[in-house]
Amino acid sequence: MATLEIRDLHVTVEADNATKEILKGVDLTVKQGETHAIMGPNGSGKSTLAYSLAGHPKYTITGGTVTLDGEDVLEMSVDERARAGLFLAMQYPVEVPGVSVSNFLRTSATAIRGEAPKLRTWVKEVREAMERLNMDPAFAERNVNEGFSGGEKKRHEILQLELLKPKVAILDETDSGLDVDALRVVSEGVNRVRETGEVGTLLITHYTRILRYIKPDYVHVFSAGRIVESGGAELADKLEEEGYEAYTKGGASA
Ligand code: ADP
Ligand code: MG
Ligand code: MG
Repeated sequence: MATLEIRDLHVTVEADNATKEILKGVDLTVKQGETHAIMGPNGSGKSTLAYSLAGHPKYTITGGTVTLDGEDVLEMSVDERARAGLFLAMQYPVEVPGVSVSNFLRTSATAIRGEAPKLRTWVKEVREAMERLNMDPAFAERNVNEGFSGGEKKRHEILQLELLKPKVAILDETDSGLDVDALRVVSEGVNRVRETGEVGTLLITHYTRILRYIKPDYVHVFSAGRIVESGGAELADKLEEEGYEAYTKGGASA
């Protein structure tokens, strides 16, 4: 059973010639097969947590530890993190000009599996995964994220998730900007991956609506750089009714 363990994580960023502490002691354990939702107001540091786990150079770790199956994630390069089984879907996915979705997926799968997938089975795997996500086959020949709509970007991320089969997947605001149909398709993809029991999922979101489609095992409220409350799915219902106000008195606004 793969386990991601985050202990007392502190992270700073440089902004306007000043060092600002964004994460102020995050503690979280995500095991393979579990689904955790992190919910919190805008600006509370949710994306900073996702980027820090992914190894983005803008974010400086000033304290704490992150391990995957006991291995020090913070010592790993971005590539090594992916090979170790960490997957990150960004809130704002980047364009990769000149690289088709099809090439990108095969290169990623090759890097993660340590060998190129057999062409014939791979083509079939990709085609079937795209069908499940209601994606036009022509999409595979487009350049990664170039001119993609919000919904296409998110479907592309879930396509990667289904094909790359990570141990722990971090999905940052996968629900933002999606209409109800796209939200349903994307949620079904996450649920399929979840049902394998082989992926631990960290679902980061500002809104509760995606949690109508994906029922988390655990919900964590994130405020001002740390987890301030944890509970089961019922905590999401409470947030839907009461909002984040109780957690942000005098702090950042939603
Ligand atoms: P959330 O995802 O919860 O909305 P973020 O992690 O995006 O929150 O941002 C948390 C705080 O950190 C904000 O005040 C934001 O301005 C700041 N911040 C995040 N990333 C950077 C960055 N790369 N440069 C400067 N400030 C940043
Ligand atoms: Mg935000
Ligand atoms: Mg964010």
